[in-house]
Amino acid sequence: MDLTRRELLIIPAAAAVAAALPAAQTAATSPQVVPWARKIRRLGQLNMTEHDPVVLDVEAWADYWASLKVDAVLVSVTGILAFYPTSVPFHKRGKFLGDRDFFGDCCAAAKKRGIHVIARMSPDLNWEDAVQAHPEWFQRNNQGAVIHHTEDPRLFRTCMFTTYMTDYMPAIMKEINARYDVDGLFTNAWPPLGSMPTCFCEQCRKLPPSGTLAYWDKFNERTVSLWKMYDAIAKEKNPANFYFANLGGGVRSTANLVELGKLCEWFQCDNQGRGGDDTPIWGCALQGRVCNAVQAGKMATNVTGAWSTGTPRWRNVHKSLEEARMWMNETLAAGMVPYHHIIGGESGLGEDRRALEPARQYFNWMARHEPHFINKRSIASIGVLMGQRTHLFHTPPRGTTLQQYVDGIYYALLEGRFFFDFVHEEQLSAEALSKYSALILPNIALLSDEQCRQLAAFVDRGGSLMATFQTSLYSERNEHRPDFGLADVFGIHKTGDIVGTTGNAYMARIERQHDLLKGFTGTSLIPGAENRVPIGAVDAPILTVVPGYTAYPPELSYPQPSRTTEPAVVVREKGKSRLVYFPGDVERTMWRSGHTDLSRLLQNAIRWVAGANAPVSVEGKGAIEAFAWETQAGFAVHVLNYTNPAMHRGWLREFFPIGAQQVRLALPAGRRVSRVQLLQAEKDVPFRVAEGAVSFAIPSVNDYEVAAIYS
Ligand SMILES: [Zn+2]
Repeated sequence: MDLTRRELLIIPAAAAVAAALPAAQTAATSPQVVPWARKIRRLGQLNMTEHDPVVLDVEAWADYWASLKVDAVLVSVTGILAFYPTSVPFHKRGKFLGDRDFFGDCCAAAKKRGIHVIARMSPDLNWEDAVQAHPEWFQRNNQGAVIHHTEDPRLFRTCMFTTYMTDYMPAIMKEINARYDVDGLFTNAWPPLGSMPTCFCEQCRKLPPSGTLAYWDKFNERTVSLWKMYDAIAKEKNPANFYFANLGGGVRSTANLVELGKLCEWFQCDNQGRGGDDTPIWGCALQGRVCNAVQAGKMATNVTGAWSTGTPRWRNVHKSLEEARMWMNETLAAGMVPYHHIIGGESGLGEDRRALEPARQYFNWMARHEPHFINKRSIASIGVLMGQRTHLFHTPPRGTTLQQYVDGIYYALLEGRFFFDFVHEEQLSAEALSKYSALILPNIALLSDEQCRQLAAFVDRGGSLMATFQTSLYSERNEHRPDFGLADVFGIHKTGDIVGTTGNAYMARIERQHDLLKGFTGTSLIPGAENRVPIGAVDAPILTVVPGYTAYPPELSYPQPSRTTEPAVVVREKGKSRLVYFPGDVERTMWRSGHTDLSRLLQNAIRWVAGANAPVSVEGKGAIEAFAWETQAGFAVHVLNYTNPAMHRGWLREFFPIGAQQVRLALPAGRRVSRVQLLQAEKDVPFRVAEGAVSFAIPSVNDYEVAAIYS
């Protein structure tokens, strides 16, 4: 097969649209070259172990992936243990490899079946003999000692600022290029996902202290330069090839997502699943929103680990099939490409084979309905700012975490059944924001003067804003401002330091009726929050602060004073714009307390700023997350059913179907609807077109339904 010709085929612009390039890119030039990665719909990986060269059944492995109709597989080269007879010094061969070319056998078996091969490498660890010969390659602690891997002390952690990354890894990449018919290069475990490295090696001692913004600048520079170097090596093999790496990490990603979004052809999210910890089910869908924010419609995958994610882990025993299925559902609903990941080929294809057939059925179901999963744009008029810098560098009040703000606002958005996108703080140009009627700023503490100006301009153009707590109180360099960067936009002024809670948290007194307070009858008080930034009085407030007081003993549990002029929310209308600022950490307090009043208040506020003309809605009973897309075939509305006792703590054990969901989608001018098909139920449903919108009912949703609107 002549891959070079096939992949670099010059195609006309109309076909480029069919291959899911975003409209903005297809309009620019014609004809277009569509990178093969953007046509990938399904991915697989059996992550190879040192033992696999003597146990994995290569033909059965390749047949399995072919039966899933995957477009590519990742095959291990590594860097820690070589899976082929390498000549690169210190690329140690696995003890079961012998003289076998295991990588070569797997690569050939996949290619024979028309599956692309990505060479997978791990640059993060190496052995004692490499430490002896190249002490400069390794991370050092503050005593100057090399750092053992925590699980296997025979391994040592390499440093990304050393020649390990510019000599050793390129040598392996070039060797692979020279010997094998690969389609791309991939590194696992670099860039680091959880946090930036802390290293005191000779190179790192020249850098600013780890964890600072000055270090982050150097970290990003190095990441971009290595990424470009590896991509250039990939392209030496074939101009259609490329390099990519594990990203993910949600909102709190270590490397600058906007910079990497521009570079990377394939955004690979190593976000494989949750455990029995107190994490909500929507972690994968949230990751998809992050990818969509920074990736301009290019391909993103989310790895679903079939193995037992969480703590403790079991790499070779699978998680509940329901949990894995929902993770895959979220991947697809959020616009990413599903990626089935199993570890180890003991007894041929692994000893736990429970996940094999369900994944095969799932991928074949996807393949049957492919045009409905090829997305052109998300349909949403609400943008939620991500605040990557805030998440990396801001220190929230003691006892709180920044993740709580994300969880809180996300939960309120789901409870309110809003359709929304994530927006990165570095992408606030008029063009980038043109689709949104409202932006939500959940404690986006760090914003530059320029970003504040861009948000003010959004308001001047008629856009609406809702913000909470310390939003805009710090510059992009984490410098504290004396007053809010968005003070003029919201008409607010800070009057003191953060007030926390001892005992009974502050409350909010209802001063007058407003849309924000819909549903609050029979009370003059609702909850405030755990922490607040005190601000100056405003005209005609709707909620005022009743300061916190003693919770125990109850004898002292009454407000004193019972009324102040300090606002608990500031609401403004300015032309078409609607502005809401909450001085409290309301979304975080909602998450922590579970208080339904706070969720109602947040939902009312989001609904008020978003305005009346939502482009899409899904009404009905149940906890859901929903997405809407313009697709190759028309439109699609995805409904994920989270109505489950394991929604907030893994894993899902069983699905609990919900009843009828009423869908309404506004149609762009001139678009007609010929058919509405439910892809899970695999049946058509009746629909109605009136007043520029299509309406229909999804009779029930088990775990997931996709309503495909042919248009
Ligand atoms: Zn170092």
